Amino acid sequence: MLDKRIEFEMLDHKPSMLSQMKNKIIMLLQNDCSKKDMIKKNERLNGDTNKISHLPNPKVVLYPPERVQLGWQDKKMSVGSGLDNPGVICYINSTLQALFHIPAFTNWLMSDGQHQKTCQKKTGFQKDCIVCMVCNTFKLSKKLTGSSFKASIITNRLSLICKHLSTYRQEDAHEFLRYLIESMEQCYLSAFGPAAKSLDNYSKETTPINQIFGGYMRTEVMCGKCGHISTTFQHFQDLILDIRHSDNVNDALDNYFKKEPLDESYLCEICQRQVAADKKFSIERAPNVLCIQLKRYSIGMDGYSGNKNSKAIQINERLDLSSYQFDHHTFKIDVRPLRYHLVSMIIHYGSSLHCGHYTTLGLTPSGSYYCFNDSNVYRTNFKNYSTSNDSYIIFYELEPSGNMNNTNLERKTSTVTSTSTCKPSTREMELKSL
Ligand SMILES: [Zn+2]
Ligand SMILES: [Zn+2]
Repeated sequence: MLDKRIEFEMLDHKPSMLSQMKNKIIMLLQNDCSKKDMIKKNERLNGDTNKISHLPNPKVVLYPPERVQLGWQDKKMSVGSGLDNPGVICYINSTLQALFHIPAFTNWLMSDGQHQKTCQKKTGFQKDCIVCMVCNTFKLSKKLTGSSFKASIITNRLSLICKHLSTYRQEDAHEFLRYLIESMEQCYLSAFGPAAKSLDNYSKETTPINQIFGGYMRTEVMCGKCGHISTTFQHFQDLILDIRHSDNVNDALDNYFKKEPLDESYLCEICQRQVAADKKFSIERAPNVLCIQLKRYSIGMDGYSGNKNSKAIQINERLDLSSYQFDHHTFKIDVRPLRYHLVSMIIHYGSSLHCGHYTTLGLTPSGSYYCFNDSNVYRTNFKNYSTSNDSYIIFYELEPSGNMNNTNLERKTSTVTSTSTCKPSTREMELKSL
């Protein structure tokens, strides 16, 4: 029995106070998620942290990544000549000039004596090697600096690179670049004879071209229900950047690597049903030379013509990809620096890919930029191109310090492989002796 009357007061909860409290509450059981699901989700999350998927090692290494030389090895190398355009081959000229100003690419062309020796032994049709054709055109360009010549070595044999490309019609420089790189890879592989055909894909991706331009992207899809992460790796040789919502390359890269919600149609292998999920890209292995294509052109209904997005895009001479690496975004640790600098850029003037004109901006060993406009070559400033409506394909090369760390990573990878039955170095010898 109480000897004093208790007075109750009405508690005056302001709505804002309630919402503040809600922010601190963790909803343990939601309507669409059972307790069993929550336990399962936590188990998966912990499990996945301990079990990270790794990129498989190649069984055979055709060209060790340590052999890629960044930066101009020949500091006195000349600017290079102009390339004549008697018709509509500026798409070929501009692509060649962009490649000729990538130090890692030309260092390899000039130093791969092993490949050249193999090719010299070939006769007849076998002699049609795109690697050697590009190499000979490059040598001619250096020799004829101050004048110009027609890249006939390439244009006369264009059908070897791609059957549907023509010297009588304006074509897409990016399409030509892809076919050229692919045919160089095929020629490089065929120099090893039939043994190259039986190689697995990861081994085929150790050609010098791939060690220069190739990288691996990690794609993680996380189930919104159970938290299971499905990981896949994609080999890539360029990044195609959407510029609709960006006015500079850095912002377009941020959008590219941003977590993206998928609709509810993702089939989770654990839940065994369609669920909502998030997708995220990160760089698993960075390329030594990064090729960026700005997505300025749309494909028309006929699969041919398309409109151009002529918005001005700001491009920096330097680019840092460090924060997009897998290690960084998962473990929030400082990872090896991935600092790049611009070495060349293809510019397209015109309203559609099949008309207009292509030129190239190239950084030369002296540190000066030059414009390569078919047979005309002249010195220019980067600032004339830094915010452009016409920039199309940009090549960035990794700074050597980044490569040193990259090399360390490769060494680590090789150590793992050498414990298996196929030592890359041994297999490399075997292939070369065939
Ligand atoms: Zn060759
Ligand atoms: Zn699931």
